[in-house]
Amino acid sequence: MKLWLAIRKRLGWKLFLSYLIVVIVGVAVLSATATLNTPSAVGRHMQRMAEAMGNDPALLTEERQSFIEAVNEVLMMAAVASVAAAIAVSVFTTNRIVTPIRAMRAASQHIAAGDYHKRVQMSEPDELGALALSFNQMAEQLEQTEQRRVALIGNVAHELRTPLASIKSTMEGLVDGVLPSDTPTFLGVQREVTRLQRLVQDLEELSRAEAGQIRLELQPTNLSVIAQAAAERLRLQFEDKAVALQIDAPPHLPQVRADTNRITQVIVNLLGNALQYTPAGGSVHLRMWSASREVLLAVEDTGIGIAAEHLPHVFERFYRVDKSRSRVGGGSGIGLTIARHLIEAHGGRIWVASSGVERGSTFAFALPLA
Ligand code: ADP
Repeated sequence: MKLWLAIRKRLGWKLFLSYLIVVIVGVAVLSATATLNTPSAVGRHMQRMAEAMGNDPALLTEERQSFIEAVNEVLMMAAVASVAAAIAVSVFTTNRIVTPIRAMRAASQHIAAGDYHKRVQMSEPDELGALALSFNQMAEQLEQTEQRRVALIGNVAHELRTPLASIKSTMEGLVDGVLPSDTPTFLGVQREVTRLQRLVQDLEELSRAEAGQIRLELQPTNLSVIAQAAAERLRLQFEDKAVALQIDAPPHLPQVRADTNRITQVIVNLLGNALQYTPAGGSVHLRMWSASREVLLAVEDTGIGIAAEHLPHVFERFYRVDKSRSRVGGGSGIGLTIARHLIEAHGGRIWVASSGVERGSTFAFALPLA
């Protein structure tokens, strides 16, 4: 019973047993065939010998006996050699199969203990190699998720610190009598609280978007109507900053399947960014057009532009090209991440282009036709 349990626990033993069974069956079949066939074969042989050497019964019986013994001896040697070969082959294959499995087990234990760097070596392009590849891909994903989790906590803490520090110092100033308890002081605190509130709302929205939990109410929609309404919301702010806003939409734009509120949110975000990063006297061009299977919308500005090395990252969460500048404007680097999730949830795509610093930027998205 104990031996059986030990065998069940070790793949090497199981492999050896399987080889041994094959050898035993082979030897059994061989000896059964030999037992059945040897007497008649030996009989024929004896017949020929009797004809050649004369008919001495005692001599023939002895000859017959020694012949059968010789066959049995050869069979015995073959069985021993087969068992030895089975041992050698099972040790070799066990090493080839069990070693990578052991390596994967050790690596998975490291990963379970939080060491996400561990990877396994791939030696052969067989099923075990494919398993090792999948294992390494899984480890890579886990490592990236862990890095993002750590970065997220760090970023959130960092974003909360500034407004909280500002509120705390204002309160201390008020308590110590260093700051006057007048409207500007309270407005300053209110501004920081608003900023915290917006950050918390953005974070909630981001976590819903990343969990794929944003429910869309899709219906055939005219993108041009949504875009005009979104632009209208920001028109006063554009006028205040003296940034020109031009809108171009063809008269019969095909309809897209979209959630009006969500797409408005994206356009307001893109226009808000364009306004924020375009100095007074500049201009923003909002245009739409249709292609074979989609409707496209672009927000082009003549603003500060984005250097090529930052372009691939602006849709990443908390990514800000110029941290100090965005911070003054209250940006947390979440808006574009949410926009990307919303557009992708519509089955669309979103991208950015810029010729470089101080040469303006273009943010665009495409939505599939209704
Ligand atoms: P934020 O709230 O900081 O604006 P976003 O996710 O909307 O966050 O944008 C991420 C970063 O992309 C911004 O911090 C800014 O550096 C850059 N960015 C976005 N829009 C523009 C633009 N129109 N021109 C230049 N840079 C931009």
